[in-house]
Amino acid sequence: MLTLTRNVYDEIVDHALRDHPIEVCGVVLRRPHEDHTARVVRFRNTAQSPVFHEADSRDLYKVYRDMAERQEELHIVYHSHTASEAYPSAIDVELAQEPSAHNLIISTAPRTFLELRSFLITDGVVAEEDVHIMEGRRAARVSPPKRGPAAGGPS
Ligand SMILES: [Zn+2]
Repeated sequence: MLTLTRNVYDEIVDHALRDHPIEVCGVVLRRPHEDHTARVVRFRNTAQSPVFHEADSRDLYKVYRDMAERQEELHIVYHSHTASEAYPSAIDVELAQEPSAHNLIISTAPRTFLELRSFLITDGVVAEEDVHIMEGRRAARVSPPKRGPAAGGPS
């Protein structure tokens, strides 16, 4: 299960909407097990594509340096799908490199607008997990009922 603070959720939604129809990508960092320290870092998508994202290498370098300095962990890796549902594409699965990170996808496609789903991806195996948003002390479930990928184009 993945729990997001309202601030983190709002920031990811804002990022995805701001650049739509270009895909966005970024990460959420935090000190281990301390949700209140979570912070969103937006990456520039050097591909500037509606179907592909590639994080700017300077942004990546800076994030890894800052993480070491601040003793943070990579909590979430997120990106948007601007023309399809929030389910990992074959390329997403292939490129997933952080087995311990939650892979969050937010859809800004009209049919699945603001669908937010999270996955653990290990050695090509995709496992969906529930997503909850903390509202004060209460957590509300936001992920839709479990289902597989619908037929659709690449993203
Ligand atoms: Zn994707």
